[in-house]
Amino acid sequence: MTNAQFAFGAAETGSAGLRAARVTRVESIPVMLPLRKHFEHAIGGKRLNLENLIVRLYTDQGLVGLGETQAWRRIGSSDTLRGLKAAIDDILAPQLVGRAVFDAPAILWDFDQALHGSHYAKAPLADALLDLQGQLLGVPASALLGGQSRQSIPISAVLPITRDLQQDVEAGMALFERGFRSFVVKVSPDGGAVQTIQQLRSALPEAVIRLDANASMDFAGARRLSDAVADCDIEGFEQPLPPWDVEGMALLAQLTKIPIIADECVVTAQDLLRVIQTRAAFGFQSKVAKNGGAWRSRDLWSIGAAAGLKIYPGNHPGTSIVTASVAHLAAAWSGPLMEGPFAVGVTDEFAPEVVVEPLTIKGNLLQVPNRPGLGMTIDEKALEKYRIDR
Ligand SMILES: [Mg+2]
Repeated sequence: MTNAQFAFGAAETGSAGLRAARVTRVESIPVMLPLRKHFEHAIGGKRLNLENLIVRLYTDQGLVGLGETQAWRRIGSSDTLRGLKAAIDDILAPQLVGRAVFDAPAILWDFDQALHGSHYAKAPLADALLDLQGQLLGVPASALLGGQSRQSIPISAVLPITRDLQQDVEAGMALFERGFRSFVVKVSPDGGAVQTIQQLRSALPEAVIRLDANASMDFAGARRLSDAVADCDIEGFEQPLPPWDVEGMALLAQLTKIPIIADECVVTAQDLLRVIQTRAAFGFQSKVAKNGGAWRSRDLWSIGAAAGLKIYPGNHPGTSIVTASVAHLAAAWSGPLMEGPFAVGVTDEFAPEVVVEPLTIKGNLLQVPNRPGLGMTIDEKALEKYRIDR
């Protein structure tokens, strides 16, 4: 058996062509997606638009791979749309054009040689290669990640900061009514969180509630909040402290009742090892943009799972393209997963779409697409409407 037969089996007809499929052009498209309602967490104030970047990889076989990333530019990400576009167009695209789609591991290695860090810029390219591989083989991206152990993924809802207690409770109850059973409550150091959490807990006695401070608190403030809501049955307190204060989170984990979850402090595998070594958290949240795409995120999941950490599939708000990347990753994961907020952009609470067949959610279950690759096709009219480079 030749390598080609081994690698592509049933797709033997034309397998040489599949194996040889090359990237001919990289297109990076900045989009401004207006949110249906503002999104606010503890750092940087209200956000009225998502600044996302869609990537299209063109091939010599006519297929187009899609990826998406975010210019989150809040703590944990210094990326701007112009910066992401420049990193992709000037540095990463030349590493990619002319290369075979199935050379992805070598391409990702070369990305790291050409540009340190910059996971937010590398992520959409990695995911677009995954998308292309799936399209070339005629299988969903989850099949390339090992197969499918789940056809739908339970997701959690996010309650942003509103400073309106009644609105928070009503929003939580409406989402519970729709089928959501777990909630990420964004909290900040400027107060109000204790009452919100207590009221939500009494309004939703069966809900799973987590807190997320997005790295905004100091040690004393985080300890005070944790103690104040210690009897509210809170599943976890996500990234209470700045990303550099992993030791502080470890001490907080020892001194307070609510378990700690890591997010912004886990970008690389080495970051995750530090969390594990210091026992700073009982779980961690990945984001495909923060962590460099679905493949790199899966590496982190394996390391975390080996250390007994709970895994929360997360993401910044985005369209169905980036959400599909996490959905396929979660679908292919054989171990337990916590309910993560990775689909917050597509729960119709926040972002508009740029694809023709967006992901669907029934209750709190996101359906994993069965189409080849990520399973997403650009809605050209919507893309024209939201792109800001023309
Ligand atoms: Mg978070």
